[in-house]
Amino acid sequence: MLPLVALVGRPNVGKSTLFNALTRTRDALVHDQPGVTRDRHYGVCRVDDGRPFALVDTGGIADGGAHLVTGDLAGATARQARAGADEADLVLFVVDGREGPSAVDDEILAWLRKAARPTFLVVNKTDGIDAREALAEFARYGLKNVLAVSSAHRHGIDDLVDEIRAQL
Ligand code: GDP
Ligand code: MG
Repeated sequence: MLPLVALVGRPNVGKSTLFNALTRTRDALVHDQPGVTRDRHYGVCRVDDGRPFALVDTGGIADGGAHLVTGDLAGATARQARAGADEADLVLFVVDGREGPSAVDDEILAWLRKAARPTFLVVNKTDGIDAREALAEFARYGLKNVLAVSSAHRHGIDDLVDEIRAQL
């Protein structure tokens, strides 16, 4: 079995876009509306012919759209984060570098700390902004492995893959 890397994060931070950049597919539905990814999406990293690893886009895990009915977005996302982290060898905690840390991000981080899996902080959407400033906003999360990427523009993806392989 391939090592498994889980993409975890609140809706709309770009998990599916990152999944597609890493798998070189358009398998994961990317949408402007939060909560569009309903199921778990699995794929294999295909950015190069280096050591392979599997990916799971956790948007929609353990939720079944319940948050759309209850409005409990934070709870639903935290459950997804926990389910993703539980089965993964490495968690990529994806956040939005434009918006900075949110309350839901804080909640996900708390779950991830409990799961105690190796976790990288991936600060996405750093195209067209000062990446260093975006990273600094998340410094209080205290995560050791922190990377700035733009999934939409494929910036930082090769470095991310190198760091992932070094961890697995
Ligand atoms: P998910 O809900 O976390 O899976 O997020 P999506 O991948 O569906 O992306 C949500 C929105 O953010 C979409 O409109 C994407 O086009 C946009 N997006 C994703 N990655 C980037 C990025 O690197 N830069 C910018 N500017 N927008 C992005
Ligand atoms: Mg998605």
